[in-house]
Amino acid sequence: MTPIGDFIKLIPKVELHVHLEGTLEPELKFLLAERNNLELPYASVEEMRAAYDFDDLSSFLIQYYEGMSVLVTEEDFYDLAMAYFERVAAQNVIYVEMFFDPQAHTVRGIELRTVMSGIRRAQQDSEKSFGIRSQLIMCFLRDMSVESAAETLEQAREFRDCILGVGLDSDENSNPPIKFQQIFADARSQGYRLTMHCDVDQENSVTHIWQCLNDIGVDRIDHGVNSLEDDKLVEEIRRRELGLTVCPISNAHVSDGTKASAIKAMLEKELLVTVNSDDPAYFPGYMTENLTRVQEEVGLTKNEISQLVQNSVKASWLNGDERAKYLQQIKAFTDAN
Ligand SMILES: [Zn+2]
Repeated sequence: MTPIGDFIKLIPKVELHVHLEGTLEPELKFLLAERNNLELPYASVEEMRAAYDFDDLSSFLIQYYEGMSVLVTEEDFYDLAMAYFERVAAQNVIYVEMFFDPQAHTVRGIELRTVMSGIRRAQQDSEKSFGIRSQLIMCFLRDMSVESAAETLEQAREFRDCILGVGLDSDENSNPPIKFQQIFADARSQGYRLTMHCDVDQENSVTHIWQCLNDIGVDRIDHGVNSLEDDKLVEEIRRRELGLTVCPISNAHVSDGTKASAIKAMLEKELLVTVNSDDPAYFPGYMTENLTRVQEEVGLTKNEISQLVQNSVKASWLNGDERAKYLQQIKAFTDAN
C-alpha cells in the first residue's frame, strides 16, 4: 500500500483556483525586475519573503499588486505561466482552470494583447512539454468600478475563444456580487462561464453567497466556506451541484485557520468541495502542500482525498468526454494505490 503522503504527491490533480499573478515567486520577481530595469523595495529574496507576513486580505493585496509591477513584456507573462506549469507538473497536476487579472495590468499601461499572448504561448508549450491542459478565467477586480469591468469585458472580445469564464476577485469589503450583476449577465450572454470569490469570513459572507446564486446565477463559487452557516444555502448549493474552490493554506493566512474541518464537513454533506492553492507564491504551498495540510489536520482517508480531486473534475468546465477521461484516470490511480 502506498503511504498516504506519497498517495497525495502522486495522485493526478486538477486545480480550479489559482491566480497566475499569485504564482510569482520572489526569485522570479527579482529576475524580471532586473530584466526590466526596475527597483524592488527589498534587498534580497529572503527579505521579500519575510515581508509576506499577511494577517488579512487587505495586507496581502497591497503586496500582491506591488509585485505585479515587474510584469511588463509578453515574455514576462510567458515566463511566469511556464514557471507555474513546470512546478505543478512535478506534482502531477493534469488540468488547470487559471485566473488572471487583466485590469491589474491594463491600469499600468500594459496591453491585454501582451498579457494574453504570453499566457497563451505558455499554455501551448506546457501542454506539449508537461502534458498539462489549461483554460483561462478572466477576473474583474471588485474594488474597481463597474465601468472598468465593462471596458475589460469589451477588450476581451477579440480573445473570446481563449477565455473560458469570468470571475470576481480582490477586496470583497463593500464590493458585493450584486455590484457586478449587469456585467455578469453580459458575460453570460457572450457565452462565458461564471464564478465569483466569496472569501472566507468576510462581512455579510452568507448574503454574498446567496447573491451569487440568486442574482448572478454563478456556475461555481470560489472559497464559499461560510455557506456552512446556513443550512438552506448548503442545500441549494448541493441541489445546483455548484463546486466550491477552497484554499486551505491561503485561509490560514487571512483567517483563523485552514478551515480543514469545514472541508471535511462539506465532504460529509456531499458538496462538490475542492482543494486549491490560490496564490501559492504568497501563501506558500501548491496543490500537494494544500492537500497534505488538510490531511494532516483532519486525517483524511485516501478515498476522501480521491473524492476531493474527483470533485475538482466534476466542478470543472470541461466537456463530458474530457471529464470522464480524467475521472477514470483518478479512479484507476486510487484503486491501484
Ligand atoms: Zn482567489
